[in-house]
Amino acid sequence: MMKNNSRRRFIKYGLVTTAMVAVGLEGVTSLLASNQNSHSSLISDDTEFDQQPLPYKYDALEDIIDAMTMEIHYTKHAAAYSKNLKEAVLAEKVDINSTVETLLKNISKYSTKMRNNGGGHYNHEMFWKCMRPKVEGNKPTGKLFTEIESQFNSFENFKKQFADAGKNRFGSGWVWLCKDVTGKLQIGSTANQDNPLMDINSIEIKGQPLLCLDVWEHAYYLKYQNKRADYIEKWWSLVNWEYVEKRFGV
Ligand code: MN
Repeated sequence: MMKNNSRRRFIKYGLVTTAMVAVGLEGVTSLLASNQNSHSSLISDDTEFDQQPLPYKYDALEDIIDAMTMEIHYTKHAAAYSKNLKEAVLAEKVDINSTVETLLKNISKYSTKMRNNGGGHYNHEMFWKCMRPKVEGNKPTGKLFTEIESQFNSFENFKKQFADAGKNRFGSGWVWLCKDVTGKLQIGSTANQDNPLMDINSIEIKGQPLLCLDVWEHAYYLKYQNKRADYIEKWWSLVNWEYVEKRFGV
């Protein structure tokens, strides 16, 4: 299988070669020159809208999340969100030099396809980074830990509230720890692929996402079946708190 970069180069040069035949040699120079500026016509480039490499191997999160779940989740579910997002972005003429975050903040202007897949892509890209191989007694440090203890009384109580938000999410969705506009930490959940950045009034939690947990059945069903609570309980040992702290801004 070709690596992502080689595949992108192949697609890019493939398009250029085809175009060279179409325009004749005299058109080639201007085509190549204009190609450097026509980013939006080459959606296969490496943009924020593309799926990024998984930061670890499929089996890296064993035995909390099994390798098959990770592989299907990454190569099928998450890959489809990115693919469908890029289709919507082309169809609805979104500037792909912009960021996915900006798109989500203005999502009410776009289609349901954009909302579902823009959220799906952003949420999964963030979710992968929120995890790492398991660490016993895993917890945050520094300012984030102090803030969590001060706002939720204890780290244990914070985990309980977060887990409850996941257990109480009916159907598919996500659990979030966010920083709201006043800098306060907030826990909440969103349905489907919605996200706390979206400008949709009915979304119950708003703010800058710091930590997210996928509670769709596809994220845990092979190993945990209907036992979502067990999946959430075990998941705590995988949280990449250094990444969450970076997002918090400490
Ligand atoms: Mn998922």
